[in-house]
Amino acid sequence: MSTVKNLTVSKFGGTSVADYEAMLRCANIIKSDSANKVVVVSASSGVTNYLVRLSQPQISQDEQLDIVNKIKAIQFNITQHLSKELELNERVEQLLAELTQHAKEQSLNHSLRIADAILSYGEQLSSIIFAEVLQTIGVNGKAFDVRQIMRTNSLFGKAVVDLDALKTNTTQVLLPELENNVIVTQGFIGQNEAGQTTTLGRGGSDYSAALLAEALNANDLAIWTDVVGIFTTDPRITDQARAIKEISFGEAAEMATFGAKILHPATLIPAMRQNIPVFVGSSKAPEQGGTRIQKVVDSAPTYRSIALRREQTLVTVKSPEMLHASGFLAKVFTILAKHELSVDLITTSEISIALTFDNPAGSTQAVITKAVVEDLEQLCEVKVEHGLSLVAVIGNNIHTTSGIGNVIFDAVEGVNIRMICQGASAHNLCFLVPENDANKVVETLHHRLFPLS
Ligand code: ADP
Ligand code: ASP
Ligand code: MG
Repeated sequence: MSTVKNLTVSKFGGTSVADYEAMLRCANIIKSDSANKVVVVSASSGVTNYLVRLSQPQISQDEQLDIVNKIKAIQFNITQHLSKELELNERVEQLLAELTQHAKEQSLNHSLRIADAILSYGEQLSSIIFAEVLQTIGVNGKAFDVRQIMRTNSLFGKAVVDLDALKTNTTQVLLPELENNVIVTQGFIGQNEAGQTTTLGRGGSDYSAALLAEALNANDLAIWTDVVGIFTTDPRITDQARAIKEISFGEAAEMATFGAKILHPATLIPAMRQNIPVFVGSSKAPEQGGTRIQKVVDSAPTYRSIALRREQTLVTVKSPEMLHASGFLAKVFTILAKHELSVDLITTSEISIALTFDNPAGSTQAVITKAVVEDLEQLCEVKVEHGLSLVAVIGNNIHTTSGIGNVIFDAVEGVNIRMICQGASAHNLCFLVPENDANKVVETLHHRLFPLS
């Protein structure tokens, strides 16, 4: 495959493209290094949440109009600073007219397919506008519809990308574009075989950027967001959190998987496959540097960070049949696979299994539907619990270092720990706590594991 020498794929999240000043800062980051030839953008901050609302059943016409107008205001607020304002506004209006059509269709006959079509407009809008912002500072920005190359299956809302098709399409369609342009494309969206728009799941733009970096054989992937890198825990939970300079792929992947919102859970998979170093930094303060995620790092501390994932669903299935029997787990997993559900944590006892599922905020679909419960009930007793959060302590050699459990559980004394998982990975120990206790648990643990010296 022909490759571009010295290529960085740069992704800008919602807050980085929220308004004109933010977009201009990002455009200057792109301009500062000629390796920045591929830009992946999210929807402007807040737009995807509006689109999720628009994609729901039974939205009144008034509310539809109100949402479309709010999105228009966000985008026009940016275009008013650009010399091609009128031309761009016309394009924005066209896209919003299409969006309104989808919204009407959705209110008559709701489907996940139309929901994905609706959700895609945030990224479509921000990409055409950002390309123009690049133009105003003398960079040859060109919007590129990622759906030409990001082929997926038809699992609307969490579509799976066809990696072979992506690679072939990238070589044939995207690569030639890089000769004379800086390409601005959409994160989060793709297209199925039938030409219908799909989405990769909330926060999926990070993953799109990583997939493109892999398909392009890029040298680097830069994730520009609103914090100066990956922190020891979410800085919104405690102001004692601090940025990590360097972290291994393995540790960062666990952090993302266990809820550090800074990266979509799948982001590091393509980067690890192709050994592409990932940088995470703030588009507001690029001079402050950020975190480098790579294969080999200088240090491997026992405690690296604490991740928190909210809105977990715990399903307990119970059947006397499980006692001394084989095949029960297989039956449960066959049902889950039929519903395309992926399990996060598992613990088992003699006659029951507890399983957790991620139920991310702002998705277009519930995870454990009535149909799933009914299918499981054919087999066993089923109990579904909500209102839980998953706390994960991430580090190194967690499974072989003695005394870790004491330190952790001592710190969270008095809190009802609903489930504990440890042992499968060298990099984490995690447990479920009631949602209301989660912040306090993370704060206390952080204080204990990362004391300010
Ligand atoms: P973007 O829109 O750029 O994709 P996100 O909101 O998805 O940004 O992710 C950035 C946010 O992730 C930060 O503002 C921060 O609150 C949160 N976050 C959670 N865990 C961490 C962590 N360990 N380090 C840094 N940020 C984190
Ligand atoms: N705009 C999408 C979302 O808000 C994707 C992303 O930002 O990564 O989930
Ligand atoms: Mg994100």
